[in-house]
Amino acid sequence: MAPPPDHPNPPAAVQASTLPQRAPATGSAQPSQSQPATVAVAVHTPAHSALGDLLSYTSAQPLAPGTLVRVPLGQREVLGVVWDGTPAPLPEGMATRSVAAVLDGIAPLDIHWRRLVAFAARYYQRSLGEIALAALPPQLRDLSHEQLARRLRRPAKPAGKGAAARANTAPAPADAAENATPLIALSAEQQGVLAQIGSNPGPFLLFGSTGSGKTEVYLRCVQTALEARPGAQALVMVPEINLTPQLEARFTERFGTASVVSLHSGMTNPQRLKSWLAAHSGQARIVLGTRMAVFASMPQLALIVVDEEHDASYKQQEGARYSARDLAIWRAREQHAKVILGSATPSLESWHASRPATPEDPQGGRYLRLHMPSRIGAGKLPVLRVVNMNHQPRRTVFSAPLLAALQERIERGEQCMILLNRRGYAPVLHCADCDWKSDCPHCSAHQVFHKTDRSLRCHHCGFAQRVPRACPGCGSPDITPIGRGTEQLEEQLSALLADVRRPDGAPARVARIDADTTRAQGALEAQLAQVHAGDIDVLVGTQMIAKGHDFRRITLVAAVQPDGALFSSDFRAPERLFALLMQASGRAGRDADYVAAQGSRSEMWLQTFHPEHAIVAALRQHDYPAFAAQQLDERQGAAMPPFAFQALVRADARTQEVAQGFLRAASQAATDAALPGLEHVTLYPPVPLTIQRVANVERAQMLLESDSRAALQRFLAAWQALLHHTRAQSAHKALVRWLVDVDPLVI
Ligand code: ADP
Ligand code: ZN
Ligand code: ZN
Repeated sequence: MAPPPDHPNPPAAVQASTLPQRAPATGSAQPSQSQPATVAVAVHTPAHSALGDLLSYTSAQPLAPGTLVRVPLGQREVLGVVWDGTPAPLPEGMATRSVAAVLDGIAPLDIHWRRLVAFAARYYQRSLGEIALAALPPQLRDLSHEQLARRLRRPAKPAGKGAAARANTAPAPADAAENATPLIALSAEQQGVLAQIGSNPGPFLLFGSTGSGKTEVYLRCVQTALEARPGAQALVMVPEINLTPQLEARFTERFGTASVVSLHSGMTNPQRLKSWLAAHSGQARIVLGTRMAVFASMPQLALIVVDEEHDASYKQQEGARYSARDLAIWRAREQHAKVILGSATPSLESWHASRPATPEDPQGGRYLRLHMPSRIGAGKLPVLRVVNMNHQPRRTVFSAPLLAALQERIERGEQCMILLNRRGYAPVLHCADCDWKSDCPHCSAHQVFHKTDRSLRCHHCGFAQRVPRACPGCGSPDITPIGRGTEQLEEQLSALLADVRRPDGAPARVARIDADTTRAQGALEAQLAQVHAGDIDVLVGTQMIAKGHDFRRITLVAAVQPDGALFSSDFRAPERLFALLMQASGRAGRDADYVAAQGSRSEMWLQTFHPEHAIVAALRQHDYPAFAAQQLDERQGAAMPPFAFQALVRADARTQEVAQGFLRAASQAATDAALPGLEHVTLYPPVPLTIQRVANVERAQMLLESDSRAALQRFLAAWQALLHHTRAQSAHKALVRWLVDVDPLVI
């Protein structure tokens, strides 16, 4: 979904009602210079605090909205943002305290940033202060005023060659010294798409095959946007931190190091502060980042790109559960910037929102869909090879034809990729004598067997212990792993390919990339470099390796065990599986000249027990539109998103009774109060989560559904006070926490 036109609070209303440009004068009608001014300050009060969002402080001088200040809060001094509007009156007997310091070395955050924060807080049912403060770099919060002042005085270290000379003069991209690489000639499809983007307001959904040259389109759009007006800025988002270095390289090559900064959680806090300040001051013209970058202060924002827009990591899964993609759409509209969503397998929400007009649907969707079906260099998309596992010997991990194909490619010097979305050696250890299983003592989940460090680890709560020598249940020494993870694939494959030689006579090399092998700083970069250098013949990994990487010599990609997702209860599972497999297959045969010179062809292999499944047919045809049409039909029939709008309320407690009891009471309170919007909202009964207990906390949730986003928002806004009220009742004091998830991705 994207914030829709039917949202009850369009930007104009925000400005008029909740965010007046000037804080109303409090106290006297004409505040004189000598009298201290009262200002509203957004601070991060503890979650669900009774104090409200905006607190009152006095200041010797009037402070413009958006000014960063340090204010006393309880015993501490915290960062705050001067806000528009009137603070709630302080409780009886509490004196207004004064602002402790003004961070006047940093320009106030502008109205666009404040509106974005206010919208996100309202839409996702969080406090304004929480969103505002979380959107700022940690060092702004953590450093004292003096430390920060010292930081700001310190001249920025040159970011790269030539950067120092230009540190204070944002260079026009065209005269960046590094901009010496000649531009490549655009394909006809790229030209067509750029023309459309140039002549339409958007939002755009760029539906382009893997390897169709979407990134080049982004680069050109950024260039156009930056040249259109002095100081213009562009924001480019990618789903994963590990995709940023590659993107950064392409952008700095084109625009020079001085105008490009990154923003993601893999950076150190000083780096983040530096990037943030560069974007805020306008010195950085281009910000590359992950979902958090959607909140970057960019006063001159002219373009937002959301690459791989379907990716689930754009949705924050803890705290404020915002969707960076959806906020990007909202932000672009509010700030009059263009916005491009790009994907080879768009989310069904974006696909539906970009449907062309038809006689039955003369309006069509709100986005403009742009299509780039061809791979650059006329490279073909990989051919699908399906192995029917029903005809393979029981317990086969690598079928004979797949092994033969791997061997052939290694002998020709080509590379292969094996995908399995499960890390560790085996998902569970089992005792055949007493039926003991390696259950996590704290969660309703198994502990995963990791052979490399002989540990059992719970992937939900992190609880780890050494692998027992004998069965903890009956003492039998015969405990065995059931099922397989990436560690086991790597081990088995190394054994199976032990006699296979590369063209240079060296033995085949198998390597693994997943969250376990890449924990150390720089480990992933080092491993990817090995793949790029050709040191690795077969790369085994999780979805981490499926996304985005431009491996030139991979000609075969195999998913050895994709079936789990085919019969998941999650209605989004087919969509996710299809996207993952298309992404993965997109890693094969990216260099058409190489494939041709090798006399090879690129292939995507699937080992499945369900070769007749509709997803397999759609993958064979590379037919995302057919797959999407079929899925959307189903969703429409079942009144599911994007044809309905959802929210979840989660409750955590020591017991299911307490968790569900809270949800039931809150639901009852809503019905009793006949809250606005209720007539359009269905409240389902509370249920336990699929993984019901994590870290000894029982989890329950309640689904809300509506055919109107506006009605759902109206209802949620009215309900919030009742949820707080219910929470405060003694009957629910054992509740650990509750939260609302608007537009949840996982139900
Ligand atoms: P996508 O993002 O759609 O997967 P990329 O933008 O990464 O595709 O492009 C795939 C490859 O094709 C890259 O190596 C890129 O440099 C190259 N490329 C893109 N556009 C062109 C073009 N017009 N001519 C030649 N090569 C191109
Ligand atoms: Zn046993
Ligand atoms: Zn656990």
